[in-house]
Amino acid sequence: MFKAILARFKQGYKTGKFPLKGEPKLPDNFMGRPEIAADAGEADAKIAASACPTGAISCENGKLCLDMGKCIFCGKCASVCPKIKFTKDWRLAAFRREDLIIHAGDKNPFDNPNETTVQLTPPKEIVKLYKNSLKLREVSAGGCAACELDFNVLGTLAWDMGRFGINVMASPRHADGILVTGPVSKNMALALEKTHAAMPEPNVTIACGACAISGGIYAESPETAPEVMEKFKPDLYIPGCPPHPATTLDALLRLIGKL
Ligand code: SF4
Repeated sequence: MFKAILARFKQGYKTGKFPLKGEPKLPDNFMGRPEIAADAGEADAKIAASACPTGAISCENGKLCLDMGKCIFCGKCASVCPKIKFTKDWRLAAFRREDLIIHAGDKNPFDNPNETTVQLTPPKEIVKLYKNSLKLREVSAGGCAACELDFNVLGTLAWDMGRFGINVMASPRHADGILVTGPVSKNMALALEKTHAAMPEPNVTIACGACAISGGIYAESPETAPEVMEKFKPDLYIPGCPPHPATTLDALLRLIGKL
């Protein structure tokens, strides 16, 4: 018994500092929130779009735009177009699909909350309902397991999302929300619809990863059923391929008003 207590004491506190006592520890090659130079225009968009495998680059009103909902953060656009840079900012999630699109010259909305049209806070009803407890059912709808594994990590002691009242449930009947990963393959469409229908009302839908948001690299595949996620109208979009655990934890805590 004494040995067990001593071992526990020696191990110390293993949960990471983020978000209560500091910033997350990110790998050197981490690619976070993109920044686009204010003068990036049509010619730059053409060059960057030619390198992009997911059609995430476009041009709106003569300005280069990058859709984080389609982006797989491969960095190819930045390698051919120096006007695109990927910062180390892990805060990528949005409550509205349109807020995932970054335009040339946009400032980081989290650092400039008074100068942005991005919706930085969730609807008040969501915070009221889930601020103390958010039970989620995860559905891998044809995912490659990358998003699933990096979401799984949040349940380990290193991230411990349970300390914020966020847990994964074995049944959708006990869940407040559904977290969907994968592009929704045709084979998974019915299972996903049934799982969604089994949740009690009200509930939230979370699209986790480029595939769940836009189809990602499978967007053109005839074997996917994107209309299912369109019908659900997600309350939270978490970009990435896969989203880093810090991005997902930041997103979930914002959703329940804890950040
Ligand atoms: S980093 Fe994103 S926008 Fe750039 S080429 Fe890759 S997928 Fe396209």
